[in-house]
Amino acid sequence: MTQEHRQKSGFETRAIHAGYEPDPMTGAVIPPIYATSTYKQDGVGGLRGGYEYSRSGNPTRTALEGNIAALEEGERGFAFASGLAAEDTLLRAICSPGDHVVIPDDAYGGTFRLFDKVATRWGLEHSPAPVSDHEAVQAAIIPGRTKVVWVETPTNPLLNIGDIEALATVTHDAGALLVVDNTFASPYLQQPLVLGADVVVHSTTKYCGGHSDVVGGALVVRDLELAERIGFHHNATGAVAGPFDSWLVLRGLKTLGVRMDRHCDNAEQVVEFLSGHGAVTQVIYPGLEDHPGHEVASRQMKRYGGIVSFRVTGGEQHALDVCARTEVFTLGESLGGVESLFEHPGRMTHASVAGTDLEVPSDLIRLSVGIETADDLLADLDRALG
Ligand SMILES: *Cc1c(COP(=O)(O)O)cnc(C)c1O
Repeated sequence: MTQEHRQKSGFETRAIHAGYEPDPMTGAVIPPIYATSTYKQDGVGGLRGGYEYSRSGNPTRTALEGNIAALEEGERGFAFASGLAAEDTLLRAICSPGDHVVIPDDAYGGTFRLFDKVATRWGLEHSPAPVSDHEAVQAAIIPGRTKVVWVETPTNPLLNIGDIEALATVTHDAGALLVVDNTFASPYLQQPLVLGADVVVHSTTKYCGGHSDVVGGALVVRDLELAERIGFHHNATGAVAGPFDSWLVLRGLKTLGVRMDRHCDNAEQVVEFLSGHGAVTQVIYPGLEDHPGHEVASRQMKRYGGIVSFRVTGGEQHALDVCARTEVFTLGESLGGVESLFEHPGRMTHASVAGTDLEVPSDLIRLSVGIETADDLLADLDRALG
């Protein structure tokens, strides 16, 4: 299959074939884990295949980078040691001290900490705005100083939805770049670059890897000048993905489409079950018609994803009791793996925002619905809800 044919083929075909040709020497259909730091040169500067040192480039990582770029319909992909390493490198590549960034008012906690505790000391200012209101985002932009509008959609754990096309318009009108953290949707459900975003960020730890066995991150861009700048910083600051981690994420991506469809199927059943349960006061899922982002999500997402949040009767104590009683759902942070996970954001991932505007309800539980047998998941929730 030629590269050109590959670009035009469907998502699942790209997921399985893009980024790697069977090895010409052995015919291996899967890229080897190139556990090498350096490469023999045929005379000074005589590189075979362009590789000289594995921080700068490694063939297993190259395969992953080509694959994720094809899935996001971008031109270049970059694989990092974690999602936060990708974010940190991106900020250094596109911002300078004195610049300003607009961030989601309910950003992923680690992202907020990066802006608040690391980037601020480096001279980068930020203002929070709700991603679901592009006029509020526009109002938060400081003309001439805002370099980046940073968006997550859906957000965590309240699953707010940002209209990527509208956000791209207000961002580009101000001469800034739109960065979309696509971790929750994955490229199977949503392709921000196609909707006008300039950079896609992933924690590949989540749905891209999909098996809770690796920590990784990625950036994907279309613009080659931007790719050049990111590529320079990728090598110059060095938070690259290692060959084994790259191999795991690449293996995960091959099944992303089938996994996401099952995550969505199961999430829909969980939503229906919870909506009819007497101990549940609210179910938050973009697929529900009463979700404020439903219409935008229907326009820009293929389906509504595997994350479901809900609130229970009886306040925080009942929520904590529910968390203590499941047998199939595993209590833990993270999301996007084949196994169902759940957490209590108020006491776990969002404990640091207690007492601020970002505080989440104490009776809220977030589910990352896995791909187990749906009936077992429903029975588990029924038992846990008491
Ligand atoms: C997990 C996560 C990150 C951070 O990624 P790591 O791989 O943990 O460094 C960033 N954004 C979102 C939305 C996440 O869920």
